[in-house]
Amino acid sequence: MSVKPFTDLSKMCVHTITTKPWNLVEAARHFSAAGVKGITVWRDALTGREIAESRRLITDYGLEIVSLCRGGFFPSVDATKRKAAIADNRKVIEEAQALGAPLIVLVCGSDPAQPLETSRQQIAEGIAAILPDAVAAGVKLAIEPLHPMYADSRSAINTLAQANDMAMEIRSPNLGVAVDVYHLWWDPALEGEISRCGENECLFAFHICDWNTPTVDILNDRAIMGEGCIPVRKIRGWVEAAGFRGFNEVEIFSTKYWQADQSQYLQKIIQAYKENS
Ligand code: ZN
Repeated sequence: MSVKPFTDLSKMCVHTITTKPWNLVEAARHFSAAGVKGITVWRDALTGREIAESRRLITDYGLEIVSLCRGGFFPSVDATKRKAAIADNRKVIEEAQALGAPLIVLVCGSDPAQPLETSRQQIAEGIAAILPDAVAAGVKLAIEPLHPMYADSRSAINTLAQANDMAMEIRSPNLGVAVDVYHLWWDPALEGEISRCGENECLFAFHICDWNTPTVDILNDRAIMGEGCIPVRKIRGWVEAAGFRGFNEVEIFSTKYWQADQSQYLQKIIQAYKENS
């Protein structure tokens, strides 16, 4: 099956973290002027302004709010911290509702001081605790599996199979998964697990970027689509075959690109979106 390149930006979304040097106003203005249609807002971009005002500002620029990043970080050996995490996630749900974001992406967390199985159990408990709040607020939650190099402290959910299993176990129309090519491209089971998402109607988000070789920083050295070894378009084909019709969200953490001229960088991303996504 050959996947056609994008000829327009109608399904293109950019995360505010991608152009981190821009504040929310600048990001919305530049994204809109460049023809980008969607924006995913990171919580830090909301500071210093009433959320209702941020919402107005974004929608005035004609942008669709795709999701709020991020909730999660449930596990801890310390019960007080686990409680605080649940309280914070409830706050994220309130923020998403106020912002008009239909989805919250969950970076689930992990505590190196305990076994991964324990962290996974605490993630499941955390999600179950906040799910009724999400349902009441009309907000969906997406479990985002993270690359195994983050299993120590950022997420004990490292494959799409694990995310699907957890979503199926807890089971709610408000709970699904997020597929990020950066985290999942290496997994030989990826195509099958994406199609399983389709069967379960739980594929809520699709994040794109690329993988640098060598990767010099495990957090902030992501590449633009086409610069690395991730077959982004091929994976998009799997995602679309699974019935996904949502936004293609460009999420790039890059110390290198954050130092560049952000307008030129955005143009480079748009070109790569059309040619390599
Ligand atoms: Zn992501």
